[in-house]
Amino acid sequence: MKDCIFCKIVRGEIPCYKIYEDENVLAFLDIENDVYGHTLVVPKKHCTNILDAEDETLAQVMKAVQKIAKHFVDDCGFDGVHTFNNNGEVAGQSVMHLHFHIKPRKTNDGIKSEFSNPKVEASLEEICEKLKLKEEKRECQGECDKQTVGNVVLYTDGACSGNPGLGGWAAIMQSSGKTKKLSGGEENTTNNRMELMGVISGLEAIKKPCKVDIYSDSAYVVNAFLQNWIEGWLAKGWKGSTGKDVLNIELWKRLLQAMKPHKVAWHKVKGHADNELNNECDALARAEIDKLRL
Ligand code: AMP
Ligand code: ZN
Repeated sequence: MKDCIFCKIVRGEIPCYKIYEDENVLAFLDIENDVYGHTLVVPKKHCTNILDAEDETLAQVMKAVQKIAKHFVDDCGFDGVHTFNNNGEVAGQSVMHLHFHIKPRKTNDGIKSEFSNPKVEASLEEICEKLKLKEEKRECQGECDKQTVGNVVLYTDGACSGNPGLGGWAAIMQSSGKTKKLSGGEENTTNNRMELMGVISGLEAIKKPCKVDIYSDSAYVVNAFLQNWIEGWLAKGWKGSTGKDVLNIELWKRLLQAMKPHKVAWHKVKGHADNELNNECDALARAEIDKLRL
């Protein structure tokens, strides 16, 4: 949704104090700052409220609400949390993008009710630094020893008109509320090469060692890592199961090189579905093909 304020936050067009993020959900501090740690949990895919939300979206959001609530209680010294949501203008919903509020509570914190509290003294920046879920708490994928200084969400896609034919690739990166978009095109290429180029170009553009969550709809690229094909290729000198050379060896080598400084986690997303950033990557990659046709 173009003008929805929470969609703009999800796309990184409006900054936020991020508490948690995964493929489908973003959680950030409520700008109101009326209760220390007041957090909003929103689906990345737009829907108005629980009345029009799909089952899957509700499940993803509630799972994140629980994860953040547990983090507040288990790791941050709170004793409990309010979780609530407003649906419809009449019920006090002011932003028409589904969101759950989490308000952390401590015994004797002096908060009289969950509504209308004076502003908290600490700034949102300080609160965020204290309460955000640290990335190290997520699955390590066997790369725990790498030291990283930031977190990047990287969406990539590749497209081809004809196989081989005119191709385009795109990468969208989000880090600390900022978004960077890259894209390029090549003649006489393949869809798989473009999928690889999207990831390679995104990773090569990250200047410092980071924890990078890569989201791609390419089974070819993602399964090479999630199903350990790459280890087999390396062990057999870049030969596939039939004994022939693996295709696109030079790109796979370039990808491994680009991954080296980072702690990478791979995520397979469904292509041409409702994932906004995946769809935007697809559009950028296709636009590159159109440029080549001119
Ligand atoms: P509701 O009244 O349940 O619709 O909640 C909407 C919440 O969104 C309010 O508590 C607002 O303070 C909060 N809000 C509005 N704009 C922003 C923003 N840019 N960043 C963070 N929170 C916001
Ligand atoms: Zn929205």
